[in-house]
Amino acid sequence: MRIRLVAFFVMAAAALICFSGPSSSSELLSARCSAPEAAEVSRAFARDSGPSLKESIDPRYEKRYVQWKDEFLAAEIARVQWELYAKHPHLTLTITISPANKHGAGTGNYKWNENGELIEATIFLGSRIDEGYPSSVYYPVMNALEPYEQNQMISRNVLAAAKIAHEFGHVMKIADTPEDLYKLQLKLVPIYNKIFLSNGHNVNDPRLVEMAQQMGGNPVEIWEDREYWGEANAMLYLRDRMAKEGFQCRLFNKIKRMVEQYAKRYEDRFTEIAKSRGVNYSCSWK
Ligand SMILES: [Zn+2]
Repeated sequence: MRIRLVAFFVMAAAALICFSGPSSSSELLSARCSAPEAAEVSRAFARDSGPSLKESIDPRYEKRYVQWKDEFLAAEIARVQWELYAKHPHLTLTITISPANKHGAGTGNYKWNENGELIEATIFLGSRIDEGYPSSVYYPVMNALEPYEQNQMISRNVLAAAKIAHEFGHVMKIADTPEDLYKLQLKLVPIYNKIFLSNGHNVNDPRLVEMAQQMGGNPVEIWEDREYWGEANAMLYLRDRMAKEGFQCRLFNKIKRMVEQYAKRYEDRFTEIAKSRGVNYSCSWK
């Protein structure tokens, strides 16, 4: 678990253009490198997103997309991740808006090259991702924002930006997943589910045990692990975006309670962020 945690944070923060420096995840999380300052944020839209980051946005969604992107890039870590993909040496990341799942978002269209490197991925944003709080069970970070928006302490665009950060988390994680493993999971999950539904929901069925071993967990474990990595990146975004807000501790404590209740086995990745730079150390999450 520790190695995977470090790998994720290395990916999340490695674009910090300080390749020669930090070697541990906490060092990376505390690094401050050459990301643009807040005053430069509005200029982000004037500049090209970069040859490796393609924004394919239907004109009818452009206005709201710019607001969501503006909100996302208001956080230092988001600017760093954006730059990483804009200048990525082999991955082309496309961001588009799909009206199909208007409050949701997803990541897909993955392609790898012969060296096993991820070369294509697409983030699909719903047309109204600034609405709709997902459940606290699998989305403890995005869900925790709801009362703050209701009390007008944050705008709806923060929810949209957290959803974008969540999807960036998926891209970072998939780039770290071997193509063979991903394709094996795609192949075995439907077979696993079919057996599970026909054997009286017996997860101890030797066929299911063997399949879970091959693909690194049962379908629920694989899915929730991916979702909690997305949430970890949404929390990184909030760490930087809410750094100056007096309620950051309360917000993080709410996330902590939900993680403890529903995602105890994945707690480390959230704790790592709560303990990192930018978070008020009077927060109780240690
Ligand atoms: Zn997700």
